[in-house]
Formats: sequence, structure tokens, C-alpha cells
Amino acid sequence: MESRRVEGLRARVVFDSRGDKTVEVEVTVEGYTARAAAPSGKSRGKREVKPFADGGAEGSVRALREASGKIVGETLDGPLAVDRLLREVDGTEDFSRIGGNAALATSAAAAIAYAGSGGEPLYRSLSRYLGADPGIPLPLSNVLGGGAHAGSGAPEFQEYLLIPVGAKDVMEAIEANVLAYRKLGRLLSQEVKGYPLGKGDEGGYAPPVGNRKALELVARAAEEASDETGVRIALGLDVAGSNVFDPRSGRYTLRSDGLYLTGEEMVSFLGELVDRFGIVYLEDPFSEDSPELFAELQRSVPNTFVCGDDLVVTRPDLIRSAIEAGSIRAAIVKPNQVGLLSLAAESARICHDRRALPVASHRSGETTDAYLSHFAVGTWCRLIKCGLIGGERMAKLNELLRIGEEVGSDRLRRLSV
Ligand code: PEP
Ligand code: MG
Repeated sequence: MESRRVEGLRARVVFDSRGDKTVEVEVTVEGYTARAAAPSGKSRGKREVKPFADGGAEGSVRALREASGKIVGETLDGPLAVDRLLREVDGTEDFSRIGGNAALATSAAAAIAYAGSGGEPLYRSLSRYLGADPGIPLPLSNVLGGGAHAGSGAPEFQEYLLIPVGAKDVMEAIEANVLAYRKLGRLLSQEVKGYPLGKGDEGGYAPPVGNRKALELVARAAEEASDETGVRIALGLDVAGSNVFDPRSGRYTLRSDGLYLTGEEMVSFLGELVDRFGIVYLEDPFSEDSPELFAELQRSVPNTFVCGDDLVVTRPDLIRSAIEAGSIRAAIVKPNQVGLLSLAAESARICHDRRALPVASHRSGETTDAYLSHFAVGTWCRLIKCGLIGGERMAKLNELLRIGEEVGSDRLRRLSV
């Protein structure tokens, strides 16, 4: 691809959707300036890169400003070429010098600026560069949340998710999920007395109910919305197993259901829920230190996509070995877990090449940026987990509608389940 010069780089501290500080970066390539900020997670995997340098977001901005002399003036020969420079200026394995969020904000801003300076949107530049066929990922929408994303009293499982597998285009997909969300609100008002429809960090309801009850209500809402729209909506779940596991007792602690389960009992319990509710997607069902339990569950529910998030933290090497070990058939791709769009794209490719599902994902503390949608379309991501309700969540879905006008809104990637 064409060589283009980096003419400027500015970094600043901004706030994410939770009110936490993060890093935003502006990069100018051949007169075109693009801006990107990085999101932050609350239920983070142990093997993720460090999100910030010493001194937090401010420390990261200082470190990036000091390093910017080694980036400005250099030429880029593709949308992801700044990533090599970022590795060089950081020089650590875990991005602890500048922080993964400063790295990702620079990586994304430079990719958008590279694309924009050639008159292209990011998704198109990425897909050309990577040789991926552009396609719209199916939205995987959080409608009810608990765990680390909600206050006490909410279910322990972190995310109850909807996948509009029967949608013919992206508009229909979003509409079906929104209708199910509204129906869920009505059901919760009727069934949970005194609950004023409070929400968790990602915009899903956070009711004071047990995990089983939450699943029942989400399943009913999905079914009613499916019947009304004719669009089949399947269920998914992110257990965020590391947060549910108590290392002292060695048990999975589901207090709201009165259940304290060993790993083996958790395999059976989740298997029952899969059968009972037809769950097709199951993220981080166990602690990130128990890949063998992932494999056991994946064997017992072969038609469900067991997905690794904290287990594999968007690292190509960990994703490859987890797929080969049979632990997962899907992997979360969260660019800031590794700090570089190029590494995240490699992870998506590894899944694609091994017939596993790459799932582009937001973080619980988000920004209104929508480059995640371009990343998902321009790589191989079959699903996009970006929430549903809330400006920072809807920003990504609305971007899919805009991209759909160019690539064809019916080029929705399929999931046969
Ligand atoms: C997740 O676990 O999938 C998630 C989005 O949570 P967080 O961003 O808090 O790590
Ligand atoms: Mg997760």
C-alpha cells in the first residue's frame, strides 16, 4: 500500500462512559487528522496488557508525548503500520511504559487517519489491506447485566445476551433486539416488585433476581419479540467466570441462586441451562485458570459456542492454543486487551482460519467512538458485542447502519445455530 507520512500526534485525557479517565489521541497523516480514544474494562483478564502507564491516564499521556518524536515524521505503508513504531517506543511485553490504552488510541487514530488521507473509511482500508471480505457482524446485545457491572443483589452472571440470528439485514437485527429489550423491561416491571428498572454499566437492566430467573425472563422477552417480528433471537451468556470463582473455597459462588458449585458441578449446571434455554453462546463459563473445564463443557455442548475472553485476552498465541485444545469455538477480540489493532486483527484471522467465531467486543467503560464497528466489518468478526442501549453502545450499531449503506446492509454475517 502507499507510503504516507505522520505529520502530528496529540494526546489528552478524556472520560469514559463510567466517568473513569482514559486516553484520547489525534494523529495527522498527510493533512488528514483522526481522533480515537480507548475504552476500559472492569472485569479484566490477568493476562491483558497494562491499560495505563505509572500515573494512570495522565502518566500515559505524558509517556506518549515524550515518545511522539519517534512516531511523527515516520512514514506508514498501511493502515496498521504505526503498530511497529508503538512496540518500539514502548519496548515492554505488557505495554507498561505507555499503557495499552495509549497504544490502542494511537493505533486506531493512525489507522483512521491513514485510511482517511486516501479517501477511504477505516473498514475498507482494513479489509483491502488484510484481504478480508467486508461484512456486517451480527449484534450480540447485552440486555441484562450483573456481576462486576452492577451493584449487589443483581445476578452473578455478568451479561445476558441476545443474537438476532434470523435477521435479514442489520436494521432488522437491531430492531429485533431493541424490541426484546423493551419487552424485558415490561416483564421486569410486572415480576420484580419495587425494582425501578435500574441499569448496569453496559446499559442492560440490573434487577435483583437470581441467575435462573434472569434467564427465564430474558428467554420470554426474546421469544415474544421473535414471535412479533418473525426474526429468531437466540440467547447468549457471559458468565465472567473468574469473578464468580472463589479461590479460597474452590467453588463457583452463585449466591442469588443459593448455589456453591465445584468446577464439575458448574459444568453440569451450565449444561442444563444450555439445554433448558437453548443458549448458543457461552463466554468465560469458568475461571481463566481452568481451560480444562472449558474443554469439558465444550465437549458436552458441541452445538454451543463456548467463547474465551479472560481466558485468551485477544492474544493470538493463547487463542490458537485454546482452539486447538478444544477449549473454545469462539474468542472475544477486544483491541485494548493487547493494545494494537494489528494484533487484534491477527486474533480475528486465527479464529476465522480455524472455523471459530471471532467476536469484536467493547469494554464496560466505553467511549462514543465507533472504530470497533469498522474493525469488525473490515476483519473477519462474525459477531459484535457492543451493548444496545446508551449513546456509547448505540454509536457502534448506528455506524453499522452507515457502513451497511456502502457494503450492502444485507451482507450480514450469518451464524448457523
Ligand atoms: C466482558 O467481560 O466481556 C466485558 C465487556 O467486561 P469488561 O469490559 O468490564 O472487562
Ligand atoms: Mg467477557
